[in-house]
Amino acid sequence: MLLQSPDRREPTPGGVPLLKQRTIAEKVSCTGIGLHTGSPVQLTLLPARADTGIVIVRHDRGRSVEIPAHVSAVSDTRFATTLGRGEHTVTTVEHLLAALYGLGIDNARVVVEGPELPVMDGSAASFVYLVRTAGVFEQREPRGVLRFRRPVEVRDGSRWIRVEPAREFRVSYAIDFDHPAIGRQELTLCGHDPARFEREIASARTFGFLREVRALWDAGLAKGGSLDNTVLLDEQRVVNPDGLRWPDEFVRHKVLDLLGDLALLGVRIQGHVRAERGGHALHLALVQAILDSPDAWRIQGGGRLAEAVLATRQPEERAASRSA
Ligand SMILES: [Zn+2]
Repeated sequence: MLLQSPDRREPTPGGVPLLKQRTIAEKVSCTGIGLHTGSPVQLTLLPARADTGIVIVRHDRGRSVEIPAHVSAVSDTRFATTLGRGEHTVTTVEHLLAALYGLGIDNARVVVEGPELPVMDGSAASFVYLVRTAGVFEQREPRGVLRFRRPVEVRDGSRWIRVEPAREFRVSYAIDFDHPAIGRQELTLCGHDPARFEREIASARTFGFLREVRALWDAGLAKGGSLDNTVLLDEQRVVNPDGLRWPDEFVRHKVLDLLGDLALLGVRIQGHVRAERGGHALHLALVQAILDSPDAWRIQGGGRLAEAVLATRQPEERAASRSA
């Protein structure tokens, strides 16, 4: 079932291997329920040409609206990452984007019939399975990457996230919750390594606290939320009868969320991303800060996608999509 072709690496002036772009080998679909609406939703992944990037296609009352998976299209980050174009929005995109990013998929169309992606088991495992079922197709065009010359950092009080120059892609994440089941957890992930992503990150589930979930339910949100798709904590412990998949499943899920949010840069990075108690808003603030700091990096290996993505930085466009 795994059709992934071996890496064909080309040396670059920086000595770092340059990879080719990848898409999925064939169309594949699944159905699940939406976390917030609690309604069934169908999701279809389609192959896409090189330099397309990831494009969400929202089917709505006979119309199709294409929304690029790019930070310029982010309209909300409060409970999940929401992308929008005009009145058309798709929410809870981060776990699918993390799966595509973690498995090295650069180009794909994601067709969705409703306003949110299915939550599946609260992790990226089902989306990884979907991509593995379709197979991975290596394209001829090289993948451009951003190579950093200096750090870019965003802070929110004592919480922060930064990217530093490094010879490879690397993520180091730390969380610190005043909760007996979590406490401080740290994790480092090195390189774009699909097998390691699949083994150590993809199955880590969303988590939430009982008191906050009650507030969401009272607000009419998280209607599809259950112990089948969320690790739920009361004041002392994990409520789910089967417990955790790893003792540090929480920080693993944070890394998963971060990869999904980094995907919204639209181009991969060669650098060390370090986060101290991050979250979607902070992750996306870093992505925006990277785009706003063109002196901090250069594009290595070309790639029209990288050029195109980085050209979408007009403030008017961002303002328009944010207010949508
Ligand atoms: Zn998440």
